[in-house]
Amino acid sequence: MSANTKYIFVTGGVTSSLGKGIISASLAKLLQARGYTVTIQKLDPYINVDPGTLNPYEHGECYVTDDGAETDLDLGHYERFLNVPTSQANNVTTGRIYQAVIEKERKGEFLGKTVQVIPHITDEIKNRIKILGKTGKFQFVITEIGGTVGDIESLPYIEAVRQLKWELGHDCMVIHLTLLPYLSTSGELKTKPTQHSVKLLLEYGVQPDVLVCRAEHAINKDIRRKIALFCNVNEDAVIEALDASTIYEVPLLMEKEKLDVIVLKKLGLAAGTQLNLDKWRGFLQKLYNPKQEVKIGLIGKYVELKDSYKSIAEAFIHAGVMHEARVRLEWIHSESLTETNVLEKLKELKGILVAPGFGNRGIDGKILAIKYARENKIPFFGICLGMQCAVIEFARNVLGLKDAHSREMNPATSSPVIDILEAQKNISHMGGTMRLGAYTCRLEPGTLAEKIYGTRETQERHRHRYEFNNEYIKHYEEAGMVLSGINPDAGLVEIVELPNHPFFVGVQFHPEYKSTVENPHPLFVSFVKAALEV
Ligand code: GLN
Repeated sequence: MSANTKYIFVTGGVTSSLGKGIISASLAKLLQARGYTVTIQKLDPYINVDPGTLNPYEHGECYVTDDGAETDLDLGHYERFLNVPTSQANNVTTGRIYQAVIEKERKGEFLGKTVQVIPHITDEIKNRIKILGKTGKFQFVITEIGGTVGDIESLPYIEAVRQLKWELGHDCMVIHLTLLPYLSTSGELKTKPTQHSVKLLLEYGVQPDVLVCRAEHAINKDIRRKIALFCNVNEDAVIEALDASTIYEVPLLMEKEKLDVIVLKKLGLAAGTQLNLDKWRGFLQKLYNPKQEVKIGLIGKYVELKDSYKSIAEAFIHAGVMHEARVRLEWIHSESLTETNVLEKLKELKGILVAPGFGNRGIDGKILAIKYARENKIPFFGICLGMQCAVIEFARNVLGLKDAHSREMNPATSSPVIDILEAQKNISHMGGTMRLGAYTCRLEPGTLAEKIYGTRETQERHRHRYEFNNEYIKHYEEAGMVLSGINPDAGLVEIVELPNHPFFVGVQFHPEYKSTVENPHPLFVSFVKAALEV
């Protein structure tokens, strides 16, 4: 690639949760739509080495990449917007930075020097930022810095940004995302918190080039002028970011505000090819004008926090649009389901998805929901733990193995239809020790799975410890369950399905991670179709 890679940093001010991930993904989308190659990286200031060991209530879903990295859910947005896979290099935490520096120290790589935040930690941060640029695959690397400017934890990251801005000159710029609160009593948007937040950045030696201002009301010329004057940015670099009814609208809002044009100008680049967002607009058009609606139940145990199942919810949006339908998700806590209320609670649903998860809580409710879906021929889709529960349900209620369970939930079960692999048994560490990332799945001829994918082989992402126990294969096949997806290298069961049912599919992997606006996942598309036909 001839020109240097351009580095764009996105920092946050005033409050957290302003949507840095969506703004980053939207800018990336606009640059991509002008013919540039872009990737996005997230730097997370917490001490966990990765979010894999975090409870979903803490940080939402853990997103998994092809190369098996357990990452922040923002990477899911990056992939859904750009349709380009991310990798381990796209998410870095403070824990990982320190782990790497401490390992180097133990190996003696610092030659007796005192190891310090500056330069050792900041150098490691800078390396991690530049790794993606060095692949030569991207003209732009957009790096989102987690947290809010002023947090103690994010200081070394801001310092690394300052140094890179100095070293890279015109190849680098900073976008600061901030909030203009609206005071209803005076009917005004207030700029003071933004001024303070930029002052804080300046104290750290970083002058932002663009300010993206979240606001509930339009930002008029006077306010733009005022912000520009107090924060040393051009007036046209004060960008308005109004609340959007869907995240997929944000690239268009940013286009209207010319965020991409300002960024390209600042970095001394041509506008690229004509901006082409036709497909994206087509998607939004359908999203806003559904011709039908379908109610699908999502049975899980982290339903109080919708972010826990972010990728599943988004995959349903993509799949719905394919059918010009709106999928209305009903979030149902698996613990709330009992023998007596299951019919009442599920009878309105046209489809039932049993979600991934860990641990015993809520398992009985999941099994009850699956029994209901199987017996009443309601389309059922089980993902990871959801597939394992379908296997357990079938063992108990069809094969007559009353004690059947997963070894995870009942280590003493006499029928461990879901079991841990020998290789996993002696692992005592929790972090990064699961079957993670993309594995091949062979699709058996003549099965529903083969028909849905339209191919004989696929790659899907995994995140689990337990597996279908192959000692029971014969029992299942004889009783009519079809094992339609197999990992050819290890012989592990990847997909189970039931014929004589409109749609009964359980998958050991996570198809939701691979659904994007441009490529909705075929399993979700087919599941929604089956639900629409009920
Ligand atoms: N707890 C199960 C396992 O470890 C399923 C994991 C999941 O649903 N992601 O195998």
